Amino acid sequence: MINVVLASSNAGKLSELNGSLGELGVRFTSQSEHQVSDAVEDGLSFVENAIIKARHASKQTGLPALADDSGLAVDALGGAPGIYSARYSGDRDDRSNYLKLLQDMERQPDRSAHFICCLVLVRHWQDPTPVICQGDWLGDIATEPRGQQGFGYDPIFLPKGLTMSAAELSKSEKSAISHRGKAVKQLKQFLSQHPTWLTPGG
Ligand code: IMP
Repeated sequence: MINVVLASSNAGKLSELNGSLGELGVRFTSQSEHQVSDAVEDGLSFVENAIIKARHASKQTGLPALADDSGLAVDALGGAPGIYSARYSGDRDDRSNYLKLLQDMERQPDRSAHFICCLVLVRHWQDPTPVICQGDWLGDIATEPRGQQGFGYDPIFLPKGLTMSAAELSKSEKSAISHRGKAVKQLKQFLSQHPTWLTPGG
């Protein structure tokens, strides 16, 4: 078993990632178990921030690291909140964030949006060839919150083709179609095609 640190302190993400990564034959532990400090996420894109977080967690633990940088991009707001999704309202509170977004979208006819998830896996902190997997999930911004599952903006995200919000889907229903689910699927495919990639010297 190879130990990999999950470079995230977001409980919602950790729970979804742990649920979907079980079959990889890798043991994931959360960075909070290793007392990893918060990384300075000063990149201008999801992929830059994911690389920063993965290298930071790997440097502090000496372990391979998997980071997830993700967020919601709303067309009518020029792609906001985007990489600033976690602190859109000024603090890291899911409810304040989605309430601010609902307010910004009041009387806005174009409600199209998409989630993006970028996963980055590094073998060590200076890894010159990180594995990068990206997924997206199209939908619309609702006019009011619905549902109790998930996290973040799930209560106000209506996935394309569904009549319920992302927060009304079970964890497995969400993983089957979400941005994170798609990125995890690519990562699983990469690791199954390169079974020794994580092995030292492999
Ligand atoms: P990060 O931890 O800096 O990558 O911020 C990600 C933020 O994007 C989270 O705090 C959520 O607000 C939002 N987000 C990412 N993925 C999801 C999701 O699957 N559902 C709802 N919100 C999400």
